[in-house]
Amino acid sequence: MSDTIRLLPDHVANQIAAGEVVQRPASVVKELLENAIDAGATSVKLVIKDAGKTLIQVIDNGRGMNETDARLCFERHATSKIKQAEDLFQLHTKGFRGEALASIAAVAQVELKTKTQDAETGTTVRIEGSKVISQEVTVTQPGTSIQVKNLFFNLPARRNFLKSNTVEIRHCIDEFHRVALAHPEIAFTFLNNGSELFQLPISNLRQRIVNVFGNKTNEKLVPVQEETPLVNISGFIHKPEYAKKSRSEQFFFVNHRFIKSGYLHHAVLNAFEGLLKEGVQPGYVLFLEADPKTIDVNIHPTKTEIKFEDEQTLYALLRSAIKHSLGQFNLVPVLDFERDQTLDTPYSYKDKTPVIPRIEVDKNFNPFRENTSETPPKKAFKKTLSPAWESLYSGIKKEIISPTGLDDSSWELAIESEEKTGAFPFTAEELSESSPVFQLHNKYLVLPHQEGLLLINQNLAHQRILYEEILKSITVSRASSQQLLLPLEMDFSKEEIRLLAEIKEELEFSGFVFATFDAENVLLEGIPVFMEATDIPAIFLQLIHDIQNEIPETGFSQNDLIAKSLARSGAVKNGSSLALEQQAFMVRKLFLCKEPGISPYGKKTMVTLSRNELDNKFS
Ligand code: ADP
Ligand code: MG
Repeated sequence: MSDTIRLLPDHVANQIAAGEVVQRPASVVKELLENAIDAGATSVKLVIKDAGKTLIQVIDNGRGMNETDARLCFERHATSKIKQAEDLFQLHTKGFRGEALASIAAVAQVELKTKTQDAETGTTVRIEGSKVISQEVTVTQPGTSIQVKNLFFNLPARRNFLKSNTVEIRHCIDEFHRVALAHPEIAFTFLNNGSELFQLPISNLRQRIVNVFGNKTNEKLVPVQEETPLVNISGFIHKPEYAKKSRSEQFFFVNHRFIKSGYLHHAVLNAFEGLLKEGVQPGYVLFLEADPKTIDVNIHPTKTEIKFEDEQTLYALLRSAIKHSLGQFNLVPVLDFERDQTLDTPYSYKDKTPVIPRIEVDKNFNPFRENTSETPPKKAFKKTLSPAWESLYSGIKKEIISPTGLDDSSWELAIESEEKTGAFPFTAEELSESSPVFQLHNKYLVLPHQEGLLLINQNLAHQRILYEEILKSITVSRASSQQLLLPLEMDFSKEEIRLLAEIKEELEFSGFVFATFDAENVLLEGIPVFMEATDIPAIFLQLIHDIQNEIPETGFSQNDLIAKSLARSGAVKNGSSLALEQQAFMVRKLFLCKEPGISPYGKKTMVTLSRNELDNKFS
């Protein structure tokens, strides 16, 4: 019998190993930036094209490599950073496994130009899919320049698996942020498709944070500083009133290495307890310096988790350091037993101008409500008199969805594929003429039908209606706008502006009119007809949050995401009382939708009770 075990050829082994280290362009960005820092660079330039799919280049002024090292650095386990196992416990560099360059060279076309500080000439090495193409003497600057071209050129399946440029560049920027924040003592430049995304001079940490996130960040920052024998804690937290839904501005660095730690994050949240309104999170950039011996370094290089020897003490120290800062900067309300707590306003409402609520009488007789005078006051429904409804009304098309007979089992199916099966019970025409609609609990629209009873969730239904309208505006015909009486000015961080700039055109098609759109600020003079000016800042924050948190794995489509987010923000809320014509209108519009049965986020917009089910309840 012949032997069945074989040694894999090197290039195959390298490709397999590369799967671990190089997941996407951002992984390459991280490894190359870290190598530049390990090489003692004081100035680092990152250049990418097509979100890193075509090119990722890092140029540094570090110590460079000699001719031998320039070739050797692409070998697996080739590292200058550790010599023996004990060194693992004294690590002061980011890399140590000697795997990154070998892995990158296995799945891309790489060109390395490097020269040590005192050498006369440098070296150029070209390597593609682990195969050295050439090595020659070159004239070049001291330091190192590595170009990584056409990532996964030899693994089409992996290349196809990459997400849209929007998603991939966001990952690259995330990695860049992590490295740039950890090293304010190094100057960084970041160019994407020839335009400058970041230009960060050598500075202190505060200035670096401001340079990364925008000028408005400065006023948000509160310093944190605590020195203990176990750990030194330093950095900045955001003042509680600047807390956001997004978790994008939360950074922990342990010995200048970015890490993620749910445990330490919890310690921070704990320190903020009572200062934040629900659903928002404080921003922070925090540095922990500890003896490398007390940290488990035996972790995978691409993972950002970390293990500490004495986690509990660390938790307590971190929490108290932050509490201390919050207290010192007078951010914790002073305990005052005389004060009537019910008069305290949460942070978010403090600066809002009060709006007189409009009260509307619920014209619907509600048989479940016995004593009307004792029911709690209803939430005012702001949209009652807004032009939004009328303009939507005028836009109704006379489309007809063919009715068919309906049995219980076809109902679910009908919701899935109404157009093809035509299984929906009503035409929009029929509905407006004959079906009475009534609102239940300011939340559901109830529709009797000869087949049974239909209960529609008003918020989810309106989301579906708006979603399809917005999607149509973006892709087919531009939506009309309502002019704002006073232009609305909003400030954003650089990163937020960058995200918004990418979808500016889609927003314009959805009905937003920008008077100006610059580096940290936008001025809006028109908004979609179904929105209220006062809601706009929240809608934008939600949109940015949604873009930042979209999970790339779910098949990212930008238009879809924008339409979903705006629809959710703009939809009438549950708890709002709807006038009769609004109820009827909502139902009609819903049944004109392509997929009336599900909300844009995949929830059911309606449930049914069939005749049989009803009859059974009384049998
Ligand atoms: P590691 O960083 O884990 O040592 P890498 O594969 O990233 O492994 O790099 C291999 C070696 O190549 C490094 O140990 C270092 O000696 C050398 N090297 C890589 N990048 C640079 C650079 N930008 N400047 C100088 N030397 C570098
Ligand atoms: Mg490295």
